[in-house]
Order: sequence, then C-alpha cells, then structure tokens
Amino acid sequence: MDKFKVAIHKDRCKGCGLCIFYCPLNHLEQSDCLNKRGVKFAVESKKNACIGCGACFFICPEACIEIYEGKKKK
Ligand code: SF4
Ligand code: SF4
Repeated sequence: MDKFKVAIHKDRCKGCGLCIFYCPLNHLEQSDCLNKRGVKFAVESKKNACIGCGACFFICPEACIEIYEGKKKK
C-alpha cells in the first residue's frame, strides 16, 4: 500500500496538466473521461508510488489537490 495518497477534486480540475508534468514520479495522468468542465482531469496512475513531495499541490492553479500521509493530511 502507498504511504502517500493524492486526492484530486475532479470537477474543479481544469485539465491544464501542470501537476502531471511536474510530478517527478509520473504518478499522475489524464483521465479517460471528461469532468463537468468538459476536460480530462488529473488522476492517480498505478505506475509509481507517490512520495509526497508536494509539487502537484503547489503547482495546481485551481487548488484541487490534497496530499495525505496515512490518515493525516499533509
Ligand atoms: S506529491 Fe509529488 S510524487 Fe506525489 S503525486 Fe504529487 S508531485 Fe507526484
Ligand atoms: S494542476 Fe490542477 S487544474 Fe491542472 S490538471 Fe492538475 S489538478 Fe487539474
């Protein structure tokens, strides 16, 4: 089980892809479907585990990413 979890607010995401681009582990990717804004939103992939670096949290212009370590919010 991953130590860190990322929660992405699906319908607030504008699909800019910044979090996907800046994640050093390629842990994020585009969804296959569209959200309420009509864009492919960011989702967690199963490729690599999240290390909780916070890059996606700080880069997101819509503030729709939260990072959790275990049960505790970072
Ligand atoms: S916290 Fe870091 S490793 Fe985890 S998804 Fe965000 S950018 Fe990637
Ligand atoms: S940076 Fe934010 S708005 Fe842009 S794709 Fe990622 S979650 Fe969506």
